[in-house]
Amino acid sequence: MAFDNYTKAEFIEKFENRIHQQEKTLVVTANPEIVMYAKDNPKYKTLLSNEADYITADGIGVVKAGEILKTPIKERVTGYDLFLDLLNMANQKHLSIYLIGAKQEIIELAVKRVREEYPNISLAGYRNGYFDLDDQTVQQAIIDKAPDMVFAALGFPRQEYFLADLKHKLNKGYLMGIGGSFDVFSGITKRAPVWMQDLHLEWFYRLLKEPTRFKRMLVLPKFIQEVKRVGKR
Ligand code: UDP
Repeated sequence: MAFDNYTKAEFIEKFENRIHQQEKTLVVTANPEIVMYAKDNPKYKTLLSNEADYITADGIGVVKAGEILKTPIKERVTGYDLFLDLLNMANQKHLSIYLIGAKQEIIELAVKRVREEYPNISLAGYRNGYFDLDDQTVQQAIIDKAPDMVFAALGFPRQEYFLADLKHKLNKGYLMGIGGSFDVFSGITKRAPVWMQDLHLEWFYRLLKEPTRFKRMLVLPKFIQEVKRVGKR
């Protein structure tokens, strides 16, 4: 997978330009889980390489992999951090956004927070993330509004399939999958304290909070093993 090696500030500058030019942009923030999933799923892998305009390294595992493979990555750039910066940008520039994803009560709380804290954002629309991907009315509702940005918190690979398809039908728009970000943004799920983030222990915090994630995290050692294997070639 080809990561774009920019800092968060550099990414934001690029995105700002593209939004200004009304250039369609699909951004994937890829963590080790996504990398491993793409490795085993050709359809998803092809979608990422053909449709994503930018892929950021989301997760310390990916940054470490860069070190091991001697292709160092400047910094970890998470979907949640980009989301917050882009909300600020949208507020400053009076842009329109569409939010899609998470459970109904969560998306409603997220919408409430956007309305309160980002008064200049025009909220083009929102809906929860529980719908059939084949249901064209969901996409049509977004197309009708032609928002400047669409944030889809549907989890992977669902959000990437949804957004790549949508991108083909839109004339403009910045599209980004942001996983569980609405759960955090709404205040329902807490992010790790900053000191833990700085020690790169966010994954450990999430494991403590949601022990059921353990199974999903088993992919991490496999990921590191795979990186080392490729690194030896
Ligand atoms: N989700 C959704 N529709 C679905 C399945 C999941 O909207 O059909 C949401 C779910 O409510 C959660 C997010 O997608 O808000 C996935 O969160 P997770 O923590 O798994 O994402 P990660 O950030 O780890 O990719």
